[in-house]
Amino acid sequence: MGETLLELKDLSVRYTTDGVISRAVNHVNLKLDKGEILGLVGETGAGKTTTALSLLKLLPKYTSEVDGEILFEGKDINKMDDKEIRNIRGSKISMIFQDPMTSLNPVFRVGEQIADVIKIHNEGISLHEVEDRVDNILTMVGIPPSRKREYPHQFSGGMKQRIMIAIAIACNPDLLLADEPTTALDVTIQAQVIKMMRNLQKELKSSVILITHDLGIVANFCDKVAIMYAGEIIEYGTLEELFDKSKPHHPYTEGLFGSIPNIQEKTSRLKPIFGLTPNPAELPEGCHFHPRCEKCMEVCKSGEVPTYRNGDYRCQCHLFAGKEAAV
Ligand code: SF4
Repeated sequence: MGETLLELKDLSVRYTTDGVISRAVNHVNLKLDKGEILGLVGETGAGKTTTALSLLKLLPKYTSEVDGEILFEGKDINKMDDKEIRNIRGSKISMIFQDPMTSLNPVFRVGEQIADVIKIHNEGISLHEVEDRVDNILTMVGIPPSRKREYPHQFSGGMKQRIMIAIAIACNPDLLLADEPTTALDVTIQAQVIKMMRNLQKELKSSVILITHDLGIVANFCDKVAIMYAGEIIEYGTLEELFDKSKPHHPYTEGLFGSIPNIQEKTSRLKPIFGLTPNPAELPEGCHFHPRCEKCMEVCKSGEVPTYRNGDYRCQCHLFAGKEAAV
């Protein structure tokens, strides 16, 4: 077993707007080992980004409640003061956001933006050393250091995302949170960026949480997979366990797989998941997926849904009743 870097224990996050409470994240338990890559998968509004932002204490102002523990190297981030969390952001945990166009500062040269992160987290570092590190990092992400004096608008979308990644890895973080890092890119550039991230992860030995709705990217990048629905982890396991079609899965996971094309299998048409992600302010009783589930039973419509486990693998669904130990 690997060494644990991060552990979420019963994490719940509530937002309150105009007196309405939204249950964005609900009793999430997750563990991430050092050097491990976890794919956090689900539709928009599933609570993936909220989970990631809570690790950096960057939740929006309308957050009304954060419960549970976020243990990073054994220390609870939830209990850290501003100074402690500032020391962690960027140097130990950093985040790559979805859209490089809005995340890069248009009026500063890209080299300066990378240098700023290095200077903030390395007091007393010489300018010469900073320059060397900027050149090094740009080379690592496949951008010639000679371009460091250029501005963000002089780069293509894929190159901008590489710069965002360069900023995120500038201090060699232990944990990299990548929130849909390739969504804004076209498919060929997506593949290049993912390949580059994979190589960087091997080189830096960072742990990664990759937030995505794209199972193709998960298959090419992740060691473990957590499927999130309505703020809950409804299925979790290794990549092999989640992609093993011979085994039963949570109906939502099956729906996700049914909604992507597979060139190895002949199928007349894709089967999208019927209905929409529920509003976190009005989550359905019982299993939150029940109004959309083709296998819904009477027992699913109220009460707690048990979680069934097999080693580290787990699935929250009544269909698994009696298969393994219920929790
Ligand atoms: Fe479907 Fe019931 Fe399982 Fe929920 S608990 S996913 S409604 S079978």
